[in-house]
Amino acid sequence: MRDLLRELRSIIEHERALYGNTLPLAETASSSEPDSEHTDSSASSDDPSSDGPMPNYDLFGNQVDPAEDPSLPPWKRVEALIPDDEPYKDAETLEEVESYLADNVLVPIDEDRENPVFGVGDPEADLIIIGEAPGRDEDKEGEPFVGRAGQLLDKILDAINFEREEVYITNILKSRPPRNRNPKSGEIDAHLPVLYKQIALIRPRIILAVGKVAGNTMLDRSSSLSNLRDTEHDFYGIPLMVTYHPAALLRNPQWKRPTWEDVKLLRTRYDQLMDET
Ligand code: URA
Repeated sequence: MRDLLRELRSIIEHERALYGNTLPLAETASSSEPDSEHTDSSASSDDPSSDGPMPNYDLFGNQVDPAEDPSLPPWKRVEALIPDDEPYKDAETLEEVESYLADNVLVPIDEDRENPVFGVGDPEADLIIIGEAPGRDEDKEGEPFVGRAGQLLDKILDAINFEREEVYITNILKSRPPRNRNPKSGEIDAHLPVLYKQIALIRPRIILAVGKVAGNTMLDRSSSLSNLRDTEHDFYGIPLMVTYHPAALLRNPQWKRPTWEDVKLLRTRYDQLMDET
């Protein structure tokens, strides 16, 4: 009988490894498998009151990195990218994160800014647009994409029937680099977790990164823009598309046509995702 039960248990565990935690197994005194007390993680992980992602374990008992765990909702996966010691990791609102950013110097460019540029738009937007870093106008106003590039971004959004207010617009860096130089890797490392927290709180259905820096940073790549655009990427379970930066379009009008193709594709995908709900 004992052997039969042991065999039954091993069959169930094998099934669970293959098909997921659909059969809750009671923990046995002798069981040392780390997942023996763990039931369906996707059910509990949707509960906003739960503290953090419940760890999942692979067939060999190794803990699966929550960011790489497709059974978790995307926002939990993105939240798992934020280092545990970031004071805003458990923040419940964008305002909390914004005031942390305003009150703290994370890297030297934060000291020199006129204003932090956190982000604007609908805190529950289904589409987030991510640029590179604030420029002079944005630094002055404390709002992303308000200069010439911003006006072009508004026109692009209008062409695909989005109002600026219904999306959320932000940047990789929240402070203006001097003379608009490219972001340094230390600056990206310091500010990127703030963006992860914004994404985890907003829970968008789709992301548009504008420009090579934003696209490569989000995807942890170093590709040309032409290799990043015209396709859908996966950002921890969230579809992500990349197109030309509006500032680049001002200098290179020949890129307007491919941008138009990209944003039409974005709109189609957005509508599909909204129809799925
Ligand atoms: N360029 C960006 O990448 N972001 C802004 O907010 C403005 C210009």
